Amino acid sequence: VSEAKDGPLERIVAVAATQLDLLEDARRRPEIDRAGLAETALELVLKGIAAEARAAGLDTFAQRHAAFAARGGDAQRHLIALGEGWACRHCKNDVVRSVQLARVDDRWKASLVCRACGRVSPIAPLGTAALARHFGALLEDADWDPTDNGFEVAT
Ligand SMILES: [Zn+2]
Repeated sequence: VSEAKDGPLERIVAVAATQLDLLEDARRRPEIDRAGLAETALELVLKGIAAEARAAGLDTFAQRHAAFAARGGDAQRHLIALGEGWACRHCKNDVVRSVQLARVDDRWKASLVCRACGRVSPIAPLGTAALARHFGALLEDADWDPTDNGFEVAT
């Protein structure tokens, strides 16, 4: 369903309508992670509003949103990419529960926590590449707290 006019509100509604399509579709598909989908939908709608706010000179909101977006996504939403090529060293399961970072020689070293047995084993090269792609800038930031982005930190 497309609206006739093409102003800021119509563009925001178009973004929201796409997300609503996805949320409606997810109702019919129990295997979909609805909480994750809803979070993504909210982020995309906020991003669409921020773009229009910036164009309209509503800088306070646009700047708040830019600062929020710069803080990066949630590791829990990238578990499939981060677990690419990985299997638990202990039980051979390949479903990741969470990502654990440890500070080694002034760098973050990633391991994956097994959903089946809860034990930790090293991330695979494809997962390392995904980590760099999604969180590269944060990994280099000395002031970053990984728990802000859904990582566990090894103690
Ligand atoms: Zn395991």
